[in-house]
Amino acid sequence: MEDNHCWHCGQAADLSLFCRFCNHLQEPVLDYYRFFGFPRTFHLDTPELERRFYSLSRQLHPDLFFRAMSRERQYSLEATALLNDAYRTLRDPVLRAEYLLKQLGEEPDPHRREAAPPELLEEVFELNEAIEELRQGDASTRPRLEQAHRKFLALRQEADRALDELYCRHDSTGDAAVLREIRVALDRRRYLHSLIQQIEKELAP
Ligand SMILES: [Zn+2]
Repeated sequence: MEDNHCWHCGQAADLSLFCRFCNHLQEPVLDYYRFFGFPRTFHLDTPELERRFYSLSRQLHPDLFFRAMSRERQYSLEATALLNDAYRTLRDPVLRAEYLLKQLGEEPDPHRREAAPPELLEEVFELNEAIEELRQGDASTRPRLEQAHRKFLALRQEADRALDELYCRHDSTGDAAVLREIRVALDRRRYLHSLIQQIEKELAP
């Protein structure tokens, strides 16, 4: 596929998975958007994604390649693995955004990744205190944790709305400066998400 010709019939290949001349399966390229034939946007038509997923699943069914040449059978295995990974990633807005940022060259910042956003430091400190007390058997801290849970849920919702706006801005303008903002907003969202999970674990019966 790298030479842009079908391995089977030698005709010029386009980006599709199956040759449009001989219909033989081409070597899949490791690009989730290209695999599903979507442009690189943060917002995605997810019902259409689902339709394409089921259609490709049928086209890549192992029974159809049982008698194929070993090269094509190998491609069908690679394409099936790619199909599942790509679908899992693209149907989830957060995983999709992480993937697209990487594709567009916006690498995560490992230092900021795990750190608490400065404006949350105090609340995180109080939360840890409450968790410690609850663990030591002080059931009266439960309401405090429940309150913190509601608060962080609301903040995560807010973060999702802010991300949505940034996605729209990038999708319509392609402005690379927005990628940086998305990166920071996603890191903050991930932090909130992990706090929520932590609280839910502590509150679980
Ligand atoms: Zn061909």
